[in-house]
Amino acid sequence: MYDDTIAAISTPIGEGAIGVVRMSGPDALAVAGHVFKGRLSHRHLSRGQVVDPRDGSVLDEVMATCMLAPNSYTCEDTVEIYGHGGALSLQAVLKALLTCGARAAGPGEFTLRAFLNGRIDLSQAEAVRDVIEAKTDAGLRVAMNGLHGGLSSRVKEVRTAILEVLAYLTARIDFPEDDVPVENPLPAIRKAAATLDQLVRSADAGIVYRHGIRVAIVGRPNVGKSSLLNRLLEHDRAIVTPIAGTTRDTVEEVANIRGIPFILVDTAGLTETSNPVEHLGIERSRKALAGADLVIVVLDSSRPLTEEDAQLIARVNGESAVTVANKSDLPGVVDAGAVFSGAIRTSMVTGEGLEELRDRMVETALNGRGVGSGEALVSNTRQKAALVSAAGSLVSAEKALAKGLPDDFVTIDLTAALNSLGEITGETVTEDLLHTIFSRFCIGK
Ligand code: GDP
Repeated sequence: MYDDTIAAISTPIGEGAIGVVRMSGPDALAVAGHVFKGRLSHRHLSRGQVVDPRDGSVLDEVMATCMLAPNSYTCEDTVEIYGHGGALSLQAVLKALLTCGARAAGPGEFTLRAFLNGRIDLSQAEAVRDVIEAKTDAGLRVAMNGLHGGLSSRVKEVRTAILEVLAYLTARIDFPEDDVPVENPLPAIRKAAATLDQLVRSADAGIVYRHGIRVAIVGRPNVGKSSLLNRLLEHDRAIVTPIAGTTRDTVEEVANIRGIPFILVDTAGLTETSNPVEHLGIERSRKALAGADLVIVVLDSSRPLTEEDAQLIARVNGESAVTVANKSDLPGVVDAGAVFSGAIRTSMVTGEGLEELRDRMVETALNGRGVGSGEALVSNTRQKAALVSAAGSLVSAEKALAKGLPDDFVTIDLTAALNSLGEITGETVTEDLLHTIFSRFCIGK
């Protein structure tokens, strides 16, 4: 338990109907007592005033409540003050609390306390941020699953199974002369490994629903890139909030296609120069291509292919790419041959091919696995890496058993698997990692 009390504004800064200032820690009630003129009662709202502790002047008319330890988000005494949602009035309330002994909370510090006080595990703490940052309904479903412990419970299931095998093998090692009943640990290990494999297989989908897919739309000038971007955004615009500190020199918009946020990068804004090399589409699109998860190559099917088209196709060859033969409403080019045959015929005028393109984009994003958002439990690469590593350790354990190696070899692998799984739920986690995870949270959460 912490011995200091933290406070922060928990609602976005701006103008809103109400804003919330939150405080948590052993002195929360005492600090509130100096500032809030009203009666605080556990989980009941009370009306009152927040006054300036220095001169007693009224800073805001508010509603306030307290939640007593351990029955609060952080498991500590918590006070929440609901004031007018103005930047200055909320800051005045916060300042009053800080003057009376609270400390300004760092990013995610309330959730960090909830984790360290054992109310939620690490994957649930990460899910809190996923819920806040969800961009599509499907993304929100994945996040809510995580918040309710969907991933934690599967991981705990596997941990328990491994612990049982470990206990049995340890008994066999420590008391060889005793009558430890002979068991074959292999089926239990195999079953645990299968569960982990299943989680790893669905991981990419979960990550995609959570973080989205970066799409670069590339092609020569006038083939219809901007028209395509607009078409995709017309129906599919997702909810996006700007992320502070990310300045980009390309225009980005997010389309919500079947629940997946596709972050579309418009290359039209990239500067053109008189340098003949940079005139090539490939150079112009270089920036967009770097860091794209999916490339849409747009060709104009009403015109013969050019050297530039060929270079682009060659450049994205082998990557996750979808080729589109646009302007299908115009008379086509007869000699276009094999290139157009593998492409989706589209028209931004009639809308032909757009549904097929959306299908293909989703298929490519999910790697053809078709994992629904309901089954996707993993939401970040950290969790995936830990699962992969745990699964690897179980495979080694299986091999050691199959080879008839001494039990010690098997227990080492099983312990490694447990440690990897502990990184997901937070049982085995370093201070640094915690810092990295929680520093990405907003202040006040
Ligand atoms: P960009 O330079 O690749 O972004 O191309 P634009 O989207 O600006 O389109 C260039 C021109 O082609 C515009 O006049 C569009 O109206 C036209 N255009 C785009 N797509 C189609 C299409 O499918 N059919 C026809 N007939 N014209 C199109």
